[in-house]
This record gives sequence, structure tokens and C-alpha cells, in this order.
Amino acid sequence: MPKSRVRLTLLKDAIKMISIKVILVYLVVVSAGGYILYLLDRKNWFCIWEQDNDGNWFTDCEEGFWLEEGTPKENNFKFCAYCGRMIKQVPYEEEKEEQNV
Ligand SMILES: [Zn+2]
Repeated sequence: MPKSRVRLTLLKDAIKMISIKVILVYLVVVSAGGYILYLLDRKNWFCIWEQDNDGNWFTDCEEGFWLEEGTPKENNFKFCAYCGRMIKQVPYEEEKEEQNV
């Protein structure tokens, strides 16, 4: 093999090695960055449980729940049983409804 050919092959191998490393580093940075952004977004920490005028609780993760008495907090609920996020409850307020009418 001529000398210039050998150099070219080495160069190609070097580029191949570098690009694999670049791709790996890129993937790690992008996935870690995405995960950090996910953690920073506070809406991923809480599941909002909103109460309607019949006393039903509707969750952020599109489930429904009915409590015989009290709010989720009064029943010592800390985490959503459906999605595992912390519960942020929004009890039904009659005044709020009147303002909308
Ligand atoms: Zn939930």
C-alpha cells in the first residue's frame, strides 16, 4: 500500500472514532439536559386534583376519585395513586362558580 493511502486510511479511522465519541457525548448531554429540564419543570412534581360541585375529584392525569368525607389532604393523601406525583388539591369553591355565571 502506498504511503499516502495508509495515511488516508488512518485519517478515515480517526474521523470514525471521533464521530462515534461525538455522537455518544451528544446523546449523553441531550438526555441529561432533557432530564434536568424535566426535573426543573414544577408541573412534573404535582398532580392537581380539582373538585367539582358534586364533590368528585378530577386529577391532572385524567382520572376521577370520590371521597366520602374531606379533602385528599384531610384523608392523608400525599401522592396521586394514578401517576405518583405529589397531590396539589383545588377544592370546589361556590363563589368561584358564581363569578363565572
Ligand atoms: Zn395523577
